[in-house]
Amino acid sequence: MRCISLHLGERVHGANSAKCSSTLRYLEIVNPIHNRRLIVPILEGVGLIFGMHQKFHEHDAGTSHPERPERLSAVLSGIGEAHLGEAVEFFAPTPAPIDILYRVHDKAYVDALRRFCLMGGGRLDPDTSVSEASWDAAILAAGSGLDAIARLDRGEAESAFLAVRPPGHHAVIDRAMGFCLINNVAVAARALADRGERVLIVDFDAHHGNGTQDIFYSDPSVLYASFHQYPLYPGTGRASEVGKGEGLGRTINIPLPAGSTIGTYRAAIDQIISPEVELFSPTWVLISAGFDSHYIDPLTDLGLTSFDYRIFIDWLFSLVPTGKRIVFLEGGYDLDALRVSTAETLAAMVGEGFGFEKSSSEEADLKTIEAIRTARARSLEL
Ligand SMILES: [Zn+2]
Repeated sequence: MRCISLHLGERVHGANSAKCSSTLRYLEIVNPIHNRRLIVPILEGVGLIFGMHQKFHEHDAGTSHPERPERLSAVLSGIGEAHLGEAVEFFAPTPAPIDILYRVHDKAYVDALRRFCLMGGGRLDPDTSVSEASWDAAILAAGSGLDAIARLDRGEAESAFLAVRPPGHHAVIDRAMGFCLINNVAVAARALADRGERVLIVDFDAHHGNGTQDIFYSDPSVLYASFHQYPLYPGTGRASEVGKGEGLGRTINIPLPAGSTIGTYRAAIDQIISPEVELFSPTWVLISAGFDSHYIDPLTDLGLTSFDYRIFIDWLFSLVPTGKRIVFLEGGYDLDALRVSTAETLAAMVGEGFGFEKSSSEEADLKTIEAIRTARARSLEL
């Protein structure tokens, strides 16, 4: 992405969207998949708002748990390394109103989670434990998406990155799962859909976002697309899972074998996701950014590099105007990979370079893509 400034018909190219000083600013976006140009106005304000709260550090998932507070330190180091300066403005989120949580999760589950945390916490499932501080962290993580929407609506920035703990995409309607308590991206998507927006959620975490899928499985206002390693926890996310009822076709699953690299992701985008996104015509894009799809992550075996996350940002940010894009932190358990992946993502979000690593192999596993396309088509015809 780059910024161009317009002066009475004169077009002057600037180096970076967030640092242009002109009062009338436009963004020229080149969609890397289709090489299509799009000119959109830039709202006044900083390039990127970054949501983080001290309470996110206080959520204790248990001794030696991979989802640990040091992950946020790695993310903060990533901001420093990206050298984004005044392009980034920090904000401290406020808790999500409880009524909005009830729009996504069962009231009984939310109330029980609150009581359980406030009584000191403990183990919720084999992977998911909470401490007393976890309730505050969870409602602040969910609230960060709502705050980001309000801030972007006011024109404070072009996009938002939310460095939240606990993550959210495994949390289903009636229970916690896989390190997740409240489904943060779903809370934001629900709020947007409730006001008539068409919301695209793209999830590139190595694990399938079963919670997000379940919450919107019958909902035509949200298009959920997930790239994930398969088979892997939680075991869902087959290509044949395509949504149901009014939501039929609004779930897109791209289950990938271990070692998959960006070439295969690109083929999936081009051949499977982009045609559906074009028909859906999203008004907002929310990204479940799980950096455990990086090749050195200790829990998974996919083959992306930190540079590859830039490709997602460039593609997804080209789909909607500025001020309508939010990135939510999900997984990512190698601290170095998390640091450089965050830096690359944030730099891409404001149109800057970073480039610690090169992209992974452009070779595409077309056999896998064809099998996914066929399985999906068969399910849609049933
Ligand atoms: Zn994950």
